[in-house]
Amino acid sequence: MQALMQDSPLTIPQLFHRAERQFHDKRIVTTTLRGEVSNTYGEWSTRVRRLATALDGLGVPQDAKVATFAWNTQSHLELYFAVPCTGRVLHTLNIRLFAEQVAYIVEHAGDDVIFVDRSLLPMLWPMADRLATVRHFVVIDDGAEAEIPDDPRIRHYEELLASAEPFRGRFEVADENAAAAMCYTSGTTGHPKGVVYSHRSTVLHSLVSLTVDAVGLSERDTILPVVPMFHVNAWGLPYAAVFAGSSIVFPGPAMKPEALVEMLERHRVTTTAGVPTIWMGMLPLLGEHDLSSLRVVVGGGAAIPTALSEGWRAAIGIPITQAWGMTETSPLASVASPRSHHEGLDSESLIQVRATQGQAVPLVDLRIVDMDTGAEQPWDGATPGELQAAGPWIASAYYGDEGSDAFSADGWLRTGDVATMDEHGFVRLVDRTKDLVKSGGEWISSVELENVIMAHEWVAEAAVIAKPDPKWTERPVACVVVEQGGQLTADEVYDHLRERVAKWWLPDEVWFVDELPKTSTGKFSKKDLRERLLGQSQ
Ligand code: ADP
Repeated sequence: MQALMQDSPLTIPQLFHRAERQFHDKRIVTTTLRGEVSNTYGEWSTRVRRLATALDGLGVPQDAKVATFAWNTQSHLELYFAVPCTGRVLHTLNIRLFAEQVAYIVEHAGDDVIFVDRSLLPMLWPMADRLATVRHFVVIDDGAEAEIPDDPRIRHYEELLASAEPFRGRFEVADENAAAAMCYTSGTTGHPKGVVYSHRSTVLHSLVSLTVDAVGLSERDTILPVVPMFHVNAWGLPYAAVFAGSSIVFPGPAMKPEALVEMLERHRVTTTAGVPTIWMGMLPLLGEHDLSSLRVVVGGGAAIPTALSEGWRAAIGIPITQAWGMTETSPLASVASPRSHHEGLDSESLIQVRATQGQAVPLVDLRIVDMDTGAEQPWDGATPGELQAAGPWIASAYYGDEGSDAFSADGWLRTGDVATMDEHGFVRLVDRTKDLVKSGGEWISSVELENVIMAHEWVAEAAVIAKPDPKWTERPVACVVVEQGGQLTADEVYDHLRERVAKWWLPDEVWFVDELPKTSTGKFSKKDLRERLLGQSQ
């Protein structure tokens, strides 16, 4: 027997129309280089409607990829909605990537147009001629003075909006499984890969962010997403915030700890989220501010050191709530807040609970499997296995069918994280199968860095490993074997790298070694290197 319920697709237009009708008086504040700009959801929604018409006016095809190269701002939120509400695909470009990678990603996705904050134009424009698919560069005025080239491809965001009539009526997207947005993620080998989110996955992911055991976002919250909108859609929080009708404070380019803590205080922010490096930077400033409005501080993207979480608790009364996820998991997959079975634990044990990666949120399934046999491992809190994930907002493949080895035979995502799980499903990460360096919440591909170093004529071999770092979580260290008869100094390695990789990718140290340990299959054994050079057991 079939059920007798209406079959309404789960789409981003539903989030938009709800906010427009019910929360038109709620506020969206953005820090710009000219100071703060405050608008209502009502004003924002009219601009979303204008932008929808403007995209048609620009001749952007109905299913085109529309890229953004932008900070966390109201205009970025306009794009977050106008693009998918008109059936197009929002493609957020990571502004921290090196030019080569951005160019590769834009070409791979086939972006038709890029919306770029004026302050970021000097980073993007030098590669404009290589971005063959891009017909327009729409510059968003964020108060920066950066020069705007005189070029027919350049358009101006405010002019486009002013000359476009607001779209009338309801946005309709018939197929909830249609693509809504995409983000690229760094792989262990090869090029970055595209993760493609659907309307349905975005709505369900937002809905779960509103549940109390996840983030519990509500209409009464004021949220400040520190995590960038160019990195996994700011963990989906912009969509969740609009769904809930929360007030939003966008930091724009003001990402310094002093500015952020000031914003948290001034706007009586209740909910915020970011990577541990951000919370580390703010820790020494907390005592000077009244942050009593804060209800939850979410930390993720890398492990939250207990000293950091406890430091926040000592300063403002609440610890950091650890969450785990990946670009491929939209990203919210598990959250570590104590449950009723933890009641009565002493404070040290509770600290250990919060130091886990937590329990899967509703609709996400997690399991650990033996890396050799593929057999599922027991949830005994001790046996490690590769962490795998399944659910309606977990990727089933990458764009262009690349990287199929990231998925198990029965369709689960192989996360590349190694974990134990306890009897209630609390996950504890113990290692990573992927050899990437996570610095300040962003990836540095050790493989790419090695390839660049090995391109130097006097380098025989090079391996890059992650060194734990109190501020950035991890920083790269390069181990270099010099060609026989050759001579090389660390300065020469740096000079070589400076011309080829982003500044923040430069290894903290360059170590010269006689040889690199190898695995049985002839790959550099980073495990052995780490043990030998950093004294780590893993
Ligand atoms: P994001 O940085 O937004 O989480 P990425 O796809 O860039 O997304 O990185 C995902 C990876 O980051 C995970 O596979 C894991 O290795 C690491 N990671 C994410 N959250 C945590 C966490 N809470 N603790 C430890 N590592 C984490």
